Amino acid sequence: MLVVMRQDATPKQIESVVTAIEARGFKAHPIPGAQRTAIGITGNKGALDAPVFESLPGVLEVIPVTHAYKLVSREVKRENSVVSIGGVPIGGKDLVVIAGPCAVETPEQTLTVARAVKKGGAHLLRGGAFKPRTSPYSFQGLGEEGLKILAAAREATGLPVVTEAVDVEGVDLVERYADAIQIGARNMQNFSLLRRAGKARKPVILKRGMSATLEEFLMSAEYILSEGNYQVVLCERGVRTFSDFSRNTLDLAVVPAVKKISHLPILVDPSHGTGRREKVSPLSRAAAAVGADGVMVEVHHDPDRALSDGPQSITPDMFEELMGELRQIAPVLGRHL
Ligand code: PEP
Ligand code: MN
Repeated sequence: MLVVMRQDATPKQIESVVTAIEARGFKAHPIPGAQRTAIGITGNKGALDAPVFESLPGVLEVIPVTHAYKLVSREVKRENSVVSIGGVPIGGKDLVVIAGPCAVETPEQTLTVARAVKKGGAHLLRGGAFKPRTSPYSFQGLGEEGLKILAAAREATGLPVVTEAVDVEGVDLVERYADAIQIGARNMQNFSLLRRAGKARKPVILKRGMSATLEEFLMSAEYILSEGNYQVVLCERGVRTFSDFSRNTLDLAVVPAVKKISHLPILVDPSHGTGRREKVSPLSRAAAAVGADGVMVEVHHDPDRALSDGPQSITPDMFEELMGELRQIAPVLGRHL
C-alpha cells in the first residue's frame, strides 16, 4: 500500500503518518517526490487499514500497489531514482562508466589500470577483492588487502571504488573501504546477503543472476530497499542460453523493461555479458542506445596475464576508443558523457 501525501503536507503530518504505520507493526518508507511525498507500507496484508490512514491529516489518498515488488516499482515512485556513488550520480542525464580489472591482483596492477581508465574518462573504478570463482582452485582475490589497494588507487586517481562482497561478513569490510557494494550474479538470491546490504550505508550495485527472470531480479532489489537502503543500482550482465558463441547472452531488452516498471537505475556489463574482448565495445554502444544509465567494463593493461577474466578484459587503448565512441553517441540519446 502507498499513502500519498498532499502537496502542502507538513513534515509533522508526514511524521505522524509514519508513526501510525509503525504503531500497527508495519514498516514505513517515506519517498520524497518532485511534487509530493509518498509513504510506502510494507509488512501489511492487504488494504484493510486504508481508511485509517486516509483520515489522517495531510493524506491525499491511499492506493494499493498491485505488483509483488513494491518499493522498486514506479507505482510507488514515478520519477527516476538517482543514486550517488562517491558523488557520481547514476540514473540522471549522465551516462556513467565503471571500469577496472576483474580482480585486484597487485598494487601496481590496480594502480596502472586505475590510472589508465581515469585517463580514458571513467567515472568509477571497479575491481574484485573477493572473487566468486567457479573453481575453488582459482584465484579467490586478496580479501582485505585488496580493499586497501583499491582505497589507495582511489586516493591516487580520485575515482570512487566499486567492489563485490560475497558474504555477510564481507559487507562489513567492503562498506568500510569502498564507495559501493557490488552483489554478484551468483549471489542475487542470497537473501541474508541482500538483507545485510539493505542495512548498509553505502549504495549497492545488484547484478542479475544468470538465470533470473525480471521479476526475480526486482524482488532481490526489493529485499535491499525493504531494509531501508534505497540506493540500489541494477546491472544486467547476461543470462545463460543455448547460444554458444559467447559466455552469456546479454539481455539488453531487459533495460527498457526495467525502465518501464522500476524507478531504479540500470547499468549493463558487456564484459561478463559476452566473455569476449572484441564484443565489449559493440555491446557497450548498444547498451547506451537501449537506455542503460551506464556500463561496467573490465579493463586490464596485460589481459593475457590477468588472474581472472583476461579473455573478456579490454586493453587501455580499447577503453579509450570506446569512451570516444560513447561520447559521440551520448548526445544523440539526450545524455551527457
Ligand atoms: C564481477 O563483476 O567481477 C563478477 C564476478 O560479475 P558477475 O557477478 O556478474 O559474474
Ligand atoms: Mn570478472
